[in-house]
Amino acid sequence: MVSENYLKKVNLSADVYSVCIQHALTTEKQEIMGLLIGEVNEEERVSNISACVILHRSDKQPDRVEISPEQLCTASMHADQLTKKLCKPMRVLGWYHSHPHITVWPSHVDIRTQAMYQTMDPMFVGLIFSVFQSDTNNSKNQIQVTCFQAHDKGSDFERKEIDLSIIPSPFQKYNLEEIAKFSKILSQEEVECGDSKVNDIHDELCTLHNDAFKTLTLVHIVSKVTRPLCESLEERKQIIYLLTKELEHIKLELGGD
Ligand SMILES: [Zn+2]
Repeated sequence: MVSENYLKKVNLSADVYSVCIQHALTTEKQEIMGLLIGEVNEEERVSNISACVILHRSDKQPDRVEISPEQLCTASMHADQLTKKLCKPMRVLGWYHSHPHITVWPSHVDIRTQAMYQTMDPMFVGLIFSVFQSDTNNSKNQIQVTCFQAHDKGSDFERKEIDLSIIPSPFQKYNLEEIAKFSKILSQEEVECGDSKVNDIHDELCTLHNDAFKTLTLVHIVSKVTRPLCESLEERKQIIYLLTKELEHIKLELGGD
């Protein structure tokens, strides 16, 4: 039975929002997923999400996202480390996944998965990022996000939308570290997927073909994910450097120490 004590609001820090969007944009073929970490105000039923963990997919079926107990455990350990580092009670508060080329609304499977998490934690929340949806009017890619919980309707569950606010925040080191994992996780998934397919093949031509295909996929990850990511981070670094210089100049003019 899902508790009726729903969340009233979710505050999502802008850097976590940015990690989720960039994660969702790494692939348009499958859904990606991750877990959300932060603090919750139980009295006001407000969730403040300020960190996340991106997850590795063991099952790369389209429209299937499953979080293993091991992954939940790893995320809880990450939350414990953040609790010590930030001196505030951080815990896993929810999950996110992407819907490439499809509507942002949760499927029946998503709502049932969400209901299962809510039985363990009534404050648990789900975020869905719809990406690679083209707008028919100007053919530009659209990104949509929804924040939801499951509502118990007796015979089944239905979606309950939760108020979501994106809170401005600078990039925290632990969130930048998650972005840095994208290429590693994507490459690992490709290598594992390729290895599981070629295990029983003893034909040399087939092995050569599969190896070439794997190389091509890895090159694709570098050119489409790693390189643009490095370039955007370099640009961000340059902007921060210029801003720092400007602030130092203003400080000097004002005669500060
Ligand atoms: Zn879904």
